[in-house]
Amino acid sequence: MLIYNPEAVISFLKYGILIPSLDTRKSNTYRALMDDPDLGSESHRWLVSDFSRIVDENDIRRAHRADYADRLFGDGLEKALMEAYELIDEKGNYNRYEPENAEAPLLDIMKDVMNVVSGSYANIQGALKDGFSYFLGGGMHHAHPGFGHGFCLVNDICISLLKAKAEGLFNKAWIIDIDAHRGDGTAEIMADHPDITSLSIHMASGWPLDSPEYREDGSLNPSWFPGDVDIPVASGEEGEYTPRLMAAMAELEKTGHPDLVFVVAGVDPYEKDELPSTAVLNLTKEQMLERDQAVYTFLEERGLPSAWVAAGGYGASSWEIHAQFLNWVLKRRLGISD
Ligand SMILES: [Zn+2]
Repeated sequence: MLIYNPEAVISFLKYGILIPSLDTRKSNTYRALMDDPDLGSESHRWLVSDFSRIVDENDIRRAHRADYADRLFGDGLEKALMEAYELIDEKGNYNRYEPENAEAPLLDIMKDVMNVVSGSYANIQGALKDGFSYFLGGGMHHAHPGFGHGFCLVNDICISLLKAKAEGLFNKAWIIDIDAHRGDGTAEIMADHPDITSLSIHMASGWPLDSPEYREDGSLNPSWFPGDVDIPVASGEEGEYTPRLMAAMAELEKTGHPDLVFVVAGVDPYEKDELPSTAVLNLTKEQMLERDQAVYTFLEERGLPSAWVAAGGYGASSWEIHAQFLNWVLKRRLGISD
């Protein structure tokens, strides 16, 4: 039910990349659950500590354009990494990147990325088997068909869903993206897949929606590529967040019930999130729990299996949000009363 493997993470610092996505977000969550007297003694009933690393290049190619996949699996990988992780600024200088402090070569990050995508796929398998699965990893929703950005090299959500669909594991799926940032890459990739319907509730302004909807040549900015249900929330509207999310899920339901729901459960709308670009949306810890419970109970009431991924969360406090929801949901599913 909870998939946690400390080796299946992208440890940016190991590669000299100073993105504040800390390994402690996952390890502290795991520790808090194990330290709970009711859950710790029952970990054999909820903890999955590893999974098969079976996602390969062919799986990547279902979600991404051939020219991009050729770059990732050829000489273009280093440049693709530099772009996706924003390691070079406009003047050509290193940005948030200190290769002299790296413990491992940058190109090795591809192996970590593929492991994470395998985790998202295993999470889908777990959800279809048990009704609920939560992977402490994944959620790279900014990777588009032909490029990566926003710390997302490839889109594990779309890759894992399209792999599972190709294998006949489901016919119809929803994606519910509750990360602070818009799921722009997911919207564009899934536009070609009418059986997979996407909802994104996100900051109304700020990255990736901080550049105009249309470029100077009249073409659409890919970050504005429309999803099926898009719900922008402006600064100061935090009290409206969950009611709007509930209304959006009711909208999604009009497309018919799916066999599987993929929840991109970023915790960066939290007021203690430390990424500067999330400062405009500030849900309290209580509002974050209300959000997660609203999604969970909506799906539970309808008997829909759900696969949740951790997605975005930055700084020292974000683990609290994963931990409070997991503590609640694992006890609920295991029949442990608080
Ligand atoms: Zn985010």
